[in-house]
Amino acid sequence: MIDELYKEVILDHYKSPRNKRGIEAATCSSHGNNPLCGDEVTVYANVEDGQVTDAAFEGQGCSISQASASMMTDAVGGRSLDEVHSLTKEFRAMMAGESEPSEDELGDLAALRGVVRYPARIKCAVLAWDTLEQALEGGEARGAAAH
Ligand code: ZN
Repeated sequence: MIDELYKEVILDHYKSPRNKRGIEAATCSSHGNNPLCGDEVTVYANVEDGQVTDAAFEGQGCSISQASASMMTDAVGGRSLDEVHSLTKEFRAMMAGESEPSEDELGDLAALRGVVRYPARIKCAVLAWDTLEQALEGGEARGAAAH
């Protein structure tokens, strides 16, 4: 029953992805792929004064990879970089089976907890997060270089 509910949430994000668009002149972006499954995702973020003011993605692949990207962009938009880093840590801990998700913190992302039982699909779920991390690292470095 609970599994069915989670499946619904994942399929909803897959069929009607949030923030699936490019951001023109995004302060940072990165492309990631998961060759094991054929998932691809490009993550865009605008970072201003240590805050992610906008986040979006484009991509294709399995429902888990695309739903995770949709949920992630929804979750990180409007958050400070510190909050984004701690959310990333929490999500990774959940996907590693190290912690029970707090739905208050993770919201829809908690629906991906069931993926832990399918080790081959964990990469699908974390792809967007790895890509976001790369984008933010590159973006910060680029920002620093500009000063
Ligand atoms: Zn996949």
